[in-house]
Amino acid sequence: PDEREILGWDQFGEAARDLAREVRDSGFEPDVVVAVARGGLLPAGALSYALGLKACGTLNVEFYTGIDARLPDPVVLPPLLDTAALVGRRALVVDDVADTGETLALVQRLVAGHCEEARTAVLYAKSHSIVAPDFVWRRTDRWITFPWSALPPV
Ligand code: 5GP
Repeated sequence: PDEREILGWDQFGEAARDLAREVRDSGFEPDVVVAVARGGLLPAGALSYALGLKACGTLNVEFYTGIDARLPDPVVLPPLLDTAALVGRRALVVDDVADTGETLALVQRLVAGHCEEARTAVLYAKSHSIVAPDFVWRRTDRWITFPWSALPPV
């Protein structure tokens, strides 16, 4: 687990298409995508295009403060998701990775309480995650470097 798992921009594009096919082939037809910001923003955007879905919302959650450095619990930050927009809908909750799985567990609990059905999609899942996401592109137990956060802010 010393080595990193590195995802490049080109590979990210392919991952999003693969994951979208996985969702479509499952027969699940979401009508709204919920991005878990910030890590899930780019995956959710790419997935919503790949699925041809225009309705996107975001739920902003903070948990990590550095590599393997976490707050005690994930917390929801403003701006808040308009949960009225979820009523009667099938939501696809999208994040970059289910690591401990605590973020996804929190979001799924919040979202599922408002919509008809909620399923989860992630690029990566780690083996110790407390939730099993419905759609996973790859599995790893390494620390992942994503293309959007590979470099420090300018
Ligand atoms: P979890 O709640 O599943 O532990 O992780 C929450 C968030 O922490 C993820 O959505 C992601 O933004 C960040 N995170 C967790 N593991 C990794 C990792 O291996 N690499 C990066 N870059 N971020 C991670």
